[in-house]
Amino acid sequence: MADTLNTRILVIDDDPFFLKILSRQLNNLGYPDVVTCTQAEEGLTILRKEPSAYGVVLCDLSMPGMDGIEFLRYLSRTEFTGGLILISGQDSRILESAQRLAKAHKLNILGAVGKPVTSSLLAGILQRVIKVSAKGKAGSLSRKYTGEELRRALDQGELINHYQPQVAVDTGKLVAVEALVRWCHPVDGMVFPDTFINLAEEYDLIDRLTQQVLAQGLRFIAGWDGINLSVNVSMDSMTNLDYPEYVMQATEDAKVNPKRLVLEVTESRLMKDRLSSLDNLTRLRLKEIGLSIDDFGTGHSSLAQLRDIPFNELKIDRGFTHGVAENSALQAIFEASLGMAKHLGMTCVAEGVEDEIDWQFLRNTGCDLAQGYFVGKPMAPEDLPRWCADWELRVQKS
Ligand SMILES: [Mg+2]
Repeated sequence: MADTLNTRILVIDDDPFFLKILSRQLNNLGYPDVVTCTQAEEGLTILRKEPSAYGVVLCDLSMPGMDGIEFLRYLSRTEFTGGLILISGQDSRILESAQRLAKAHKLNILGAVGKPVTSSLLAGILQRVIKVSAKGKAGSLSRKYTGEELRRALDQGELINHYQPQVAVDTGKLVAVEALVRWCHPVDGMVFPDTFINLAEEYDLIDRLTQQVLAQGLRFIAGWDGINLSVNVSMDSMTNLDYPEYVMQATEDAKVNPKRLVLEVTESRLMKDRLSSLDNLTRLRLKEIGLSIDDFGTGHSSLAQLRDIPFNELKIDRGFTHGVAENSALQAIFEASLGMAKHLGMTCVAEGVEDEIDWQFLRNTGCDLAQGYFVGKPMAPEDLPRWCADWELRVQKS
């Protein structure tokens, strides 16, 4: 699938005249294979029958009968993995929120265009599809994998940790790295975790996956004094009561002091066994392993958790960090979260530090650590030394 590009396009819009114009535009842009329909139901039927027959779907948002938003919902339940472009004559905020919705449905959204559709804009978006597929990179055009494929990948050691730096806000010094797993697929290239974590959970491979990430990460920091490791774990995978022993064993195997390990904990909706997780988390802290409440302020990362679990680190979600300097609502939330962390004697990490303005804002707060694209993206282990040198220069200037 990496090399063959599917340029067959399905266009759904209730206006037959618009369909005619758009088809002609697409033909002129070099896409001769265009199928149109005037109803979302019809489009769905086509895609259910032949999900892989179309590379791209263009869909209008406002249609009588099933509208574009309903269409997105149903489309996400089909096997269709091609690109999606939304079209609307409505104002741009509706288009934006529809795009967010499509992303939340895990659809491969390529873009949104207002009516009338200009050929140049359309060409730009479609060009993106070609670039992505030509490289064969999963990224936005990721396909669905089977549990068997993932099991094989685990056996073959195709899951590799990348690392994102966490630096001290006051000195700029590298303090820790967060391990973020990538699937280095032999054909599709780099596959991101949002494509396979659910799969791992579904096929009972999540424990194996977490074990690999932990062991790899510990080996990585073993020879790197003063650098801590953060690993993401779901509370769901902590139902086994010997979990703390297993983590301790992993640190021992790698000859890493347990104090250098931080588990970033998230609670999923389907908490299977809350009592066991609490038992495990409390014992992990007794053994001096760090516990971090991840994505604080979102979803299930809540005040109740802060009350119940002996966390010693709080990670402010990126949604409250990026852009905080110019948004008073974000400032209120950011400062309250930071204040809570400080009151509770916790280390506070700001995620989502994406630009110089975010970074400068942080420097005037008491926040301990910063993480985000401005500091450094998640990177392959061999790229970290170069990042270190580069960051040192940048932080001196900032
Ligand atoms: Mg995390």
